[in-house]
Amino acid sequence: MQNPLPKSNTELLLETEKLCRKLEQLKREKFDLEILLETTIFHADLVEDQLHESNLQLQLEIRERKVAEAKLKASEIQLKALLKTVTQANYDLKIILETTTVHGDFIEEYTHNLSIRDPLTGLFNRRYQEKSLERHLKHAKKHQQNLSIIMGDIDHFKNFNDQWGHQAGDVVLVEISKFLIYNIRQSDIACRYGGEELILILPRTSLEEAKNLAEQLRLGIEKLSLDKPHQFLQKVTISLGVASFPEHGLSSLGITQSADLALYQAKANGRNCVVTAHELLR
Ligand code: GH3
Ligand code: MG
Ligand code: MG
Repeated sequence: MQNPLPKSNTELLLETEKLCRKLEQLKREKFDLEILLETTIFHADLVEDQLHESNLQLQLEIRERKVAEAKLKASEIQLKALLKTVTQANYDLKIILETTTVHGDFIEEYTHNLSIRDPLTGLFNRRYQEKSLERHLKHAKKHQQNLSIIMGDIDHFKNFNDQWGHQAGDVVLVEISKFLIYNIRQSDIACRYGGEELILILPRTSLEEAKNLAEQLRLGIEKLSLDKPHQFLQKVTISLGVASFPEHGLSSLGITQSADLALYQAKANGRNCVVTAHELLR
């Protein structure tokens, strides 16, 4: 292998110049790279800062959202409890209203009954009887219908009370009243006229029909003790007077007086019997 020929000075000079230029270029490139590196680092710091800040902001928002969510939940629970209370109160109010209405209706019916019924027997009282007779007579006149009344009076009731006591007498009144109610039509009106005197108002009933009914009632009362546990009832009988519109009176007073006279006659005839006002006219 041959050794290379030594370079000339000019060649060396040229070589040196070339190297110097190269060095210069490398220096510039290094400078540029340093700037680039610096810029990149600065930029990265900036991005990191921004990321950090965004992260903090996000965490803050998450925390705020959680607080808001917790508040919402608490409100929801409170609202549910409130709704439950209001629903319960509403339900209670409905019951109170219902009870009050039923109670009111009951009181109304009760006071109405008190004003028209006799408390011992449950029959209509004298005041109601008078009004009722007036009304039915008016109706009978208008429509040219019959109307009859039966007046009844328990026989020797004073003796009964003396023998068996007043309380036993009350039981008799109650039992006779029950018997009457069960044995008349729904359209008939059974009333307590006085102490042991009873009146039946019989709309659309002729004297003959009323007389037959009075006789049935008399017999029924006479036998009342047969199916009752109160033995003393077998000693009870009733006398009855019957009068009709228009034959024996055109007014309530007139027809009542006629029935009363017939009853008086029944007592005179020996009691436990029926007399009509027609028989008095003979
Ligand atoms: P008569 O056959 O003539 O009707 O005789 P009587 O004894 O039934 O008639 P009187 O008018 O002399 O007596 C009626 C009796 O009726 C007197 C009274 O004690 C009784 N009386 C009236 N109201 C009641 C009552 O609510 N309960 C009881 N236990 N007795 C009564
Ligand atoms: Mg009497
Ligand atoms: Mg009597």
